[in-house]
Amino acid sequence: MINVTKTYLPSKEKFKNYVDEIYSTGWLTNNGPLKQRLEAKLKEYLGVKNIILVSNGTSALQVAYKLLDLSGEVITTPFSFVATTSSQVWGGLTPVFADIDKDTLCIDPKKIEEKITEKTTAIVPVHVFGNACEVEEIEKIAKKHNLKVIYDAAHAFDVKYNDEKLLNYGDVSTLSFHCTKLFHTIEGGALIFNDDDLYEKAKKLINFGIAGPDNIEYLGINCKMNEFQAAMGLCVLDEIDIIENGREKVYNYYVEAFKENDSITLQKINENIKSNYAYFPVVFESEEMLLQVREALNSEQVSPRRYFYPSLDTLCYLKNKQYMPISNDISKRVLCLPMYDSLTKKELDKISNIILETISLYDVDDEVAFARG
Ligand SMILES: *Cc1c(COP(=O)(O)O)cnc(C)c1O
Repeated sequence: MINVTKTYLPSKEKFKNYVDEIYSTGWLTNNGPLKQRLEAKLKEYLGVKNIILVSNGTSALQVAYKLLDLSGEVITTPFSFVATTSSQVWGGLTPVFADIDKDTLCIDPKKIEEKITEKTTAIVPVHVFGNACEVEEIEKIAKKHNLKVIYDAAHAFDVKYNDEKLLNYGDVSTLSFHCTKLFHTIEGGALIFNDDDLYEKAKKLINFGIAGPDNIEYLGINCKMNEFQAAMGLCVLDEIDIIENGREKVYNYYVEAFKENDSITLQKINENIKSNYAYFPVVFESEEMLLQVREALNSEQVSPRRYFYPSLDTLCYLKNKQYMPISNDISKRVLCLPMYDSLTKKELDKISNIILETISLYDVDDEVAFARG
């Protein structure tokens, strides 16, 4: 079975050494030594000023909204994983969508301003599949209207932007370290920011709002990262080059395989970035073609995924009904192909051959149907 992703597992021996450490200290969570070590290493590796590790990427978003005291409406993208929107609704915020750019698949900055009302407090864009949003444009709009910017950067681990770190844009960036992601801590996530005061406040928010033994300063929540998660993170970070290099090869293979095919469109990547090769989305001519390709792949034990489907403006629990035509159209036609470091040339040949063959047959069927009127 070839899945859309395969969790990177370090050697058991390596993980066990950390587990032995946890057993000898008896320190399992609450700002433990392994969590502190991972925080320091990630801070350096990612080139960011402040980082706080949390239990998952969704809680990182939830904490970010509270941290910046958001209320009312936030302008966000309809093309993302459901957690981007659900975390907002869960936090009492009203998501207001601005449609995406059909080529970059990120929020279209030209559509943000028309959505701003007196209730708007923030913009929450997503660096979709690790592609950078138009961060300068978004910053300009935010400044002009005095809005906060939170980037859901769940896909953007270690993406460089103009030799800078993409994670340093916005008031806060959030990461997910779920085991389906490029870098993982089993479950986990992080908040990243430049502002030192926000950092001090966030440390308390993730730990019940506690400021000291006898002092509760804020309304907080519990989303601390534990030592077993940190242990996994230390193991995986140690081998991150294997992960990134392997994925780059897979990425380049797919680009070569599909670049000449008119029925497949690849995501237009921001030319200022150095990618992390986290995903490989392909957009087909039609949903029908996508479904045929998926069926052909499934019948050969290959499982791509419809990331992201459906478009988030169709979520049943949204009170303010909105319709985003581009996001709906793309959602129906986009498929993420298997992407992980250990995919072999043979497996890639198999995947690309099935896709290209199905498309060529699809064309023939079309012609036949046309000829028969
Ligand atoms: C994975 C993901 C999340 C949620 O992260 P978890 O760690 O699974 O809670 C949020 N946003 C996006 C875009 C994601 O892909």
